[in-house]
Amino acid sequence: MDEKLTSGKPEKSPMAKTEKLTAVKGMNDILPPESARWEWFEAKVRALMARYAYANVRTPIVEPTALFVRGLGEVTDIVEKEMYSFVDSMNGDRLTLRPEATAGIVRAMIEHNALYNGPMRVWSAVTLFRHERPQKGRYRQFHQIDVEALGFAGPDVDAEQILMCRALLRDLGIPMEHVRLELNSLGQPSERMAHRAALIAHFEAHADVLDEDAKRRLHSNPLRILDTKNPAMQAVVEAAPQLMDFLGEASLAHLNAVRAVLDAVGLTYRINPRLVRGMDYYNLTVFEWITDKLGSQGTVCGGGRYDGLFEQLGGKPTPAVGWGMGVERMLLLLEAVGVLPPASAPDAYAIVPSAQEMPAAMAACEALRTAGVNVQMHAGTGEGLGSMKSQFKKADGSGARHALIFGTDELAQGCVAVKHLRGEKDQDLQAQALQPLGDVAAWAHTLRG
Ligand code: ATP
Ligand code: MG
Repeated sequence: MDEKLTSGKPEKSPMAKTEKLTAVKGMNDILPPESARWEWFEAKVRALMARYAYANVRTPIVEPTALFVRGLGEVTDIVEKEMYSFVDSMNGDRLTLRPEATAGIVRAMIEHNALYNGPMRVWSAVTLFRHERPQKGRYRQFHQIDVEALGFAGPDVDAEQILMCRALLRDLGIPMEHVRLELNSLGQPSERMAHRAALIAHFEAHADVLDEDAKRRLHSNPLRILDTKNPAMQAVVEAAPQLMDFLGEASLAHLNAVRAVLDAVGLTYRINPRLVRGMDYYNLTVFEWITDKLGSQGTVCGGGRYDGLFEQLGGKPTPAVGWGMGVERMLLLLEAVGVLPPASAPDAYAIVPSAQEMPAAMAACEALRTAGVNVQMHAGTGEGLGSMKSQFKKADGSGARHALIFGTDELAQGCVAVKHLRGEKDQDLQAQALQPLGDVAAWAHTLRG
């Protein structure tokens, strides 16, 4: 693994001081109005987690490099070529920007003995880093919603997590015809050993079509070859011996129990015997939610069981299952299927004819905000507050339902003029009512309405 960066004193930049600086390639800024879609999505996620009783966790973005090397497996795309790893020049520590969420969460659970009182269901909204070739739906900094059930042997909780994905897709308004569920079982390590021998023999017999990655992985991690994205190898991968045929009774029973729940709730899925996922920690249930709407970046959510990971990271044996959903890909999918989040707008826009009225107007708006009204205040620019006409135009553009006009005469009477901006009828648009400022709480709910 390369060490791609070293922290410490910034190198002297040859750039002129006034030259424009840009974001790091593959790392995106999320600005309005796009950020409103993110907030809407996050609110749906939070509501879902509450409904399924998953508690929020937050772990560091930077972890010891060894955590991922041990956790994900040395012979994986992520560890071999995608990690942002560096040496902390202050103390020589080897650190990595997290490329996935599960290893850090498991580390935290072990470190704090958090499962002492029993199993836990947790979720996290995470920022992840992978040094990949940036393209639509594939970035170097990206976001996931991550869900983990820790200390549960399943298979019921495996099914629960798959249903959570469906519930979220439904909450977001994504028609189910645009996504499909693929399911597989990776069995247990002993079953994989038997399969591994058959796999090596198969790929050795087709050594001529193997690419460099595959050749290197043939003896270290042949299962990884099944995860290849190289089209030239698809035929030989398709013809490879299937792990499913090496599963014993217990593994098959686990898979069938998951299937029984999916069948009971009428969720259709496809068994994909070649679905292996990108990390080595998985066993038994693995699944992906895939869409055809995003080309080769079609996997929007992937997960599975990882019963061995706690021990691998120095903890007690602890069965667990989880999934990660790519936020950027979900938002791209929403766009592709034409789902637009409801536009957000303030309840009221405060129009202030001149600076003289500003203190009284701001005091009144503070009282309204305390009463729960969302108020956008007209504020001074370099040219002052602007004409009434331009302020009304801004009020309209804000999407607010009401304009509050803090004129001198109105304020002298202890009032504000309220104009309805989103009226259906003409007279509504014209109507302007005087509202006493004395009892703000009494009319605040009309503005919120
Ligand atoms: P892919 O096969 O597309 O590379 P993956 O198997 O590497 O995906 P996981 O590690 O399973 O992905 O992560 C779960 C989800 O996170 C993916 O299904 C995808 O939605 C999202 N994801 C993964 N890598 C990226 C990335 N570089 N940029 C944006 N989203 C990503
Ligand atoms: Mg990947």
